[in-house]
Amino acid sequence: GRLRLLVLFGGASAEHDVSCVTAAHVLAAADRTKYELIPVGITTGGTWIRNDKAIAALAEATPALPDSLEPAGTEVEPLAEIAGEGDRPTVVLPLLHGPHGEDGTVQGMLELANVPYVGSGVLSSALCMDKAMAKIVAAQAGIPQCRWIEFRAGTGETASLVERTIAELGLPVFVKPANLGSSVGISKAHDAAELAEAIEFALRYDEVLVIEEAVTAREVEVAVLGNLFPEASVAGEIRPGSEFYDYEDKYVNGAAALVIPAELPPAESDRVQELATTIFSTLRCSGMARVDFFYEEGGRGWLLNEVNTIPGFTAASMYPKLWEASGLSYPALIDRLVELASERHAIRS
Ligand code: ATP
Ligand code: MG
Ligand code: MG
Ligand code: MG
Repeated sequence: GRLRLLVLFGGASAEHDVSCVTAAHVLAAADRTKYELIPVGITTGGTWIRNDKAIAALAEATPALPDSLEPAGTEVEPLAEIAGEGDRPTVVLPLLHGPHGEDGTVQGMLELANVPYVGSGVLSSALCMDKAMAKIVAAQAGIPQCRWIEFRAGTGETASLVERTIAELGLPVFVKPANLGSSVGISKAHDAAELAEAIEFALRYDEVLVIEEAVTAREVEVAVLGNLFPEASVAGEIRPGSEFYDYEDKYVNGAAALVIPAELPPAESDRVQELATTIFSTLRCSGMARVDFFYEEGGRGWLLNEVNTIPGFTAASMYPKLWEASGLSYPALIDRLVELASERHAIRS
């Protein structure tokens, strides 16, 4: 029989809407002769909802699926839904971005339920979600990165953090909530007043902040796929449509251009692919991850920006496009991820 592929989407994070769009693309592309697709949406309140309408649509020869899925349908109990009924094997595909999805929490639940799931495990998910912790571990492994400082809410006044930042990093800087994605909560600050605002803004999303020197560099991303022996895709470059690659640029106006493969000297594309797989293994990733770099030409060269363990996954997103350019189609990529999830589960259990 077909494998039950439980597609988890939505989620209680600021990236909820992005995930709903991703889920619709995956359902439309996944091979329905191989998988019984079960879309389960998580509301912003954390309730699990099986999308019966989408399941009914998937039973049709030509399913009419919306562009974005809603967590609407029958409320289900998470563990019972994961276990399913009968003895049909299940693989879970978590397409959740940000906290309570990409950060090891859902992965921990899936470990306890003893089901195979796509992507990184608990430790790696939590580590990559927390930009400060990821930087610390990457630095320990000698991975080149930009200069940065960490701040925890309640450990000082905004005014003194502004002073310290300017003294240690200069201006401009990027201020980020440590645990988020899709550029939510991130701003570039050019002067002390903007910096104070940026700090207050980021603190609305997280109690830990990362403040980084703003590097003048090209933005290059590599898609990594595999478990213990990961492979790197060709590199891709982002040319932001505004001052930086912000939320609007990513999802609203789509003004950013993706250049695939990135125009790089062969030695530099080899180098960044090698760095990407090293970082993937260093941060204990499995399944998939998109490793984002800055390329400071004529300066420090490659600097790690961050690792996304559940990268954007619509057909127009960087991760699947990089694999497509590397010879793996979108449906074949889904198959490979499911295989990797089963392999990892078999080894660990
Ligand atoms: P994602 O959607 O990839 O998860 P994110 O929310 O985790 O994004 P970052 O990738 O850290 O955020 O930053 C978002 C964007 O801000 C980057 O793609 C880049 O355009 C810009 N940016 C971030 N940090 C810096 C920096 N130190 N110097 C220059 N530009 C930066
Ligand atoms: Mg990110
Ligand atoms: Mg992200
Ligand atoms: Mg990023």
